Amino acid sequence: MSRFWSATTHRLEPYVPGEQPRIAGLIKLNTNESPFEPSPAVRDAIAAAAAESLRLYPDPAATALREALAAHHGVRSDEVFVGNGSDEVLAHTFAALLRHERPLLFPDVTYSFYPVYCGLFGIAHETVPLDEGLRIRVDDYRREAGAVILANPNAPTGIALDRKSIAALLAAQPDVPVVIDEAYVDFGGETAIPLVADHPNLLVVRTMSKSRALAGLRVGYAIGDRALIEGLTRVKDSFNSYPLGRPAQAGAIASIADDEAFRRGVATILANRERMRRGLDERGFEVLPSAANFVFARHPAWPGAALAAALRERAVLVRHFAKPRIADFLRITVGSGEEVARLLSELDAILRA
Ligand SMILES: *Cc1c(COP(=O)(O)O)cnc(C)c1O
Repeated sequence: MSRFWSATTHRLEPYVPGEQPRIAGLIKLNTNESPFEPSPAVRDAIAAAAAESLRLYPDPAATALREALAAHHGVRSDEVFVGNGSDEVLAHTFAALLRHERPLLFPDVTYSFYPVYCGLFGIAHETVPLDEGLRIRVDDYRREAGAVILANPNAPTGIALDRKSIAALLAAQPDVPVVIDEAYVDFGGETAIPLVADHPNLLVVRTMSKSRALAGLRVGYAIGDRALIEGLTRVKDSFNSYPLGRPAQAGAIASIADDEAFRRGVATILANRERMRRGLDERGFEVLPSAANFVFARHPAWPGAALAAALRERAVLVRHFAKPRIADFLRITVGSGEEVARLLSELDAILRA
């Protein structure tokens, strides 16, 4: 608190990121990072870009990266926007597309950054409750709205909607922006990108942080009608013309080119997720069906906060949200095979006591 702050700064309720402590031997399953390093081709491309020309500004339009993403997803490069992590892409999206007289709609349980952006940009919003199974019911979004944003798969539940449900949402809301945040879609969801061609109001947001193991590089992107992309670009060029440095652009291009490493990484996570799901199930947990690189689970005998604290004592970090409806759940990132085994053996020790 300071008298030098603006009124806006006083009013902010910032997002609290998962902790990144430096503790030796820590099993870090709290921020949905990949347990694996990105492919060597990515590191080589980053090193080459850093060796070459750091004294020069990067391409402000990230043309080569947008062209690579366009080819990868079968869209045109003027239908692609890139930013410094999808959090920045989302921030520009809220500013450019989601502030209207009528409220923005999103679920009561979802990515906790959405209400933060609403606070930052003064966006009127209403939350729509998930059903009893913590699922999004698309029918509940058939009502007066200025815009809609959903994470699909949703966070932190991990539950996915199929593409038909997204199409139904678009049919119900043809005249307002609809944003689908697909941060976790590569782990078993169905992408809405094929719907972009017929829906000028649809924006799909993606990140390279999770399925491409590049959280440290900060690259996110959005795909949508070129008029939506133009709106995002107007906001971006009113804020920071160079959100992605040369190493980030080069590393992201190399990641897209190395599809083999990407597929291998995702396949390993899916196998480990199944081991984790089964292990938690055997230990009495209720585990929601996950299409993400994490599971959302609760134990009937343990409040979420107490279990998260007990795991932390044993150097296993998981994410707990002290929020209505989900306070007894833990969000646990799918780690390497060894990390999954450690999690389960530490849980055995805790549950036995
Ligand atoms: C992790 C996450 C993001 C942010 O990803 P970055 O690209 O690392 O900024 C956005 N949306 C959801 C739902 C996420 O879980």
